[in-house]
Amino acid sequence: MSKSRDKELGMDRSITRRDFLNGVAVTVGTATSSMLPSLAFADTDIAPQDKPGYYPPILTGMRGSHPGSFEGAHKLRDGIFWKSAGKPNDTGESYDLVIVGGGISGLAAAHFWRKQKPDARILILDNHDDFGGHAKRNEFHPEGRPSGRMLLCNGGTWAIESPVPYSKVARGLMDELGIDPSALAAKCNVRGLYKGLTSGIFLNKETFGADFLVKGAPSGMFPGEIDNQAGNNLEGSPLAPEVRKDMIRLESTTEDFLPGLTSDEKKDRLTHISYKDFLLKIVKVNPKVIPIYQTRTHSLFGVGIDAVNALDCWALGFPGFKGLKLSPGPHPRMGYTPKGYANPPKDYEFHFPDGNATIARLLVRRLVPTSTPGSTAEDIVTAKVDYAQLDRQDSPVRIRLSSIVVGAKHLGDLATANEVQVAYLRSGKLYSVRGKSVVMACWNMMIPYLCPELPDKQKEALHYGAKVPLVYTNVQIKNWQAFEKLGIRSASCPGMYHSQLGLDVPIDIGDYKFPKTPEDPMVVRMERTPCMPGMSERDQHRVGRADLLSTSFETFERNIREQLNRVLGPGGFDSARDIEAITVNRWPHGYAYEYNYLFDPEWPAGQSPAEIARKPFGRIAIANSDAAAAAYTDTAMDQAYRAVQELLTA
Ligand SMILES: Cc1cc2nc3c(=O)[nH]c(=O)nc-3n(C[C@H](O)[C@H](O)[C@H](O)COP(=O)(O)OP(=O)(O)OC[C@H]3O[C@@H](n4cnc5c(N)ncnc54)[C@H](O)[C@@H]3O)c2cc1C
Repeated sequence: MSKSRDKELGMDRSITRRDFLNGVAVTVGTATSSMLPSLAFADTDIAPQDKPGYYPPILTGMRGSHPGSFEGAHKLRDGIFWKSAGKPNDTGESYDLVIVGGGISGLAAAHFWRKQKPDARILILDNHDDFGGHAKRNEFHPEGRPSGRMLLCNGGTWAIESPVPYSKVARGLMDELGIDPSALAAKCNVRGLYKGLTSGIFLNKETFGADFLVKGAPSGMFPGEIDNQAGNNLEGSPLAPEVRKDMIRLESTTEDFLPGLTSDEKKDRLTHISYKDFLLKIVKVNPKVIPIYQTRTHSLFGVGIDAVNALDCWALGFPGFKGLKLSPGPHPRMGYTPKGYANPPKDYEFHFPDGNATIARLLVRRLVPTSTPGSTAEDIVTAKVDYAQLDRQDSPVRIRLSSIVVGAKHLGDLATANEVQVAYLRSGKLYSVRGKSVVMACWNMMIPYLCPELPDKQKEALHYGAKVPLVYTNVQIKNWQAFEKLGIRSASCPGMYHSQLGLDVPIDIGDYKFPKTPEDPMVVRMERTPCMPGMSERDQHRVGRADLLSTSFETFERNIREQLNRVLGPGGFDSARDIEAITVNRWPHGYAYEYNYLFDPEWPAGQSPAEIARKPFGRIAIANSDAAAAAYTDTAMDQAYRAVQELLTA
């Protein structure tokens, strides 16, 4: 990329781009820095979170797995950590329960424990500079907005939703937190703001021959929305006439491509064939149709249609299945049947402006009441957490951030030990605490490194899954007039760096008011899912993870600017002028790995890796959504409850 192109894109512009490196805030750009409290500190004896003004949700730049949060873990994985680590400093602290991981599972575990043991003393350790794990809050404060007004967005976990109804335990927890998804959806969802704007597909020059925006999306992305118009909107596109014709055939076909088979036989067949192969070998589409659909499964599964089974794509409403007349019923990963065929648990869907970070914040407020003002699921949205309250000696529950756990060892013989010693690294120093019980609410693949004495079979099972790498990029823009001019609210970009971009989903809740006119500042959400089509799903995730960890913020920024210019430029957008802040939420270890019967065996009950992996070990139990091999908030809660029960009833 030439220097002059960089200038056109605005790479030299002074936007908010603050990286939090090894506990020290590095500020690049000055646009809003005067409004933000300083996070820099010199005194290493005081923990970063106890410093005045510490407030990580406002940080932009590289977030998610941010620099400083994972390097110790990688040294542990590479077998070099203990060579130079020395002996941990004993803090002398002793707890009833130590929890490794401050995501929704770890926070829920603390809650469930305290319900049964109200006097318990609990320590939660997390490697990130903020709590919530994947449920991360991004705050933007556009200049020129009235004081106190902010734009919120999810940095990870987006919504209360699940392919299966929430369990009694998870529903019960939501009730206790005051979250009634249906009532909140009815009261808070803003309808009609994007009226007249459709979803689109941006065909890029490198993949399709010319840059072209197809307005209105074929079925699958927003099922049922514009099926019949897809054909019209392809007029003038760079797609060859025979490709267009075949795409329209695919979108509208009512042919039964598997004649002579019962619905169950068809479903079995579709479970064991990828959607790509279904299209090529059964529907027999022109191979040039494939790139248009290739990335459509990225958001949900982190891989393209080469690695997602056709039955799940039927469940998502993808085209090609109408004539098969499949009966409603379960399917591998989507759990419920598609809209129009049955009643998926839509009554339990809702998103807060910062996604499920609100659930994490509600849990934190219950665990450490002095940290956060307010009392409802609505007032929490604009409440400011006082991070200095999270780890106070006089509090029965303490949440210690930027603390990566590197070891958990029973003190004495496994059968008779009364305590587990937990070692963690913070600000370059090694510490230890003791816990009568420990819940590992961290990622499965970390646990064998933390507890090397686990049985080999369990360690192998813990290593089985490969978490899904993905990136949620949030870009604060001056206004969204370009979207309005182009007539779109989102675009799938199958050949581009981010495969999806769109305006944030509107919601007014409590004192939080979503932007209301195209002249208002807005957050554009973009998604990138690095993978390598053609490999097994787990291998694709491994390659994607390596890609993410080796990509600099500068590369992300250049690609973001280039992509927004190309997609929105014809509507008047100018990256150099209109981008005000960028947050790249990088999740090299994102969704829990869910089994994929294109590549994984169908294990008998009790024999899947997740079931073997989550067995308790002495005074240590295992939570986290990895323990269910299901990447959902309700499973994170359910697994926390199970882990707590295992320890309390042992
Ligand atoms: C981008 C993204 C979007 C998602 N969207 C949704 C959605 O819309 N709806 C939904 O239901 N689910 C969604 N999910 C799934 C999400 O993972 C779960 O909903 C849930 O938040 C998982 O919670 P958890 O506590 O099990 O794990 P996590 O949130 O991953 O929390 C585990 C925590 O443990 C920490 N940890 C790991 N190792 C250590 C260590 N050695 N020491 C200390 N701490 C450690 C981790 O860094 C992390 O902070 C999404 C996930 C991602 C990544």
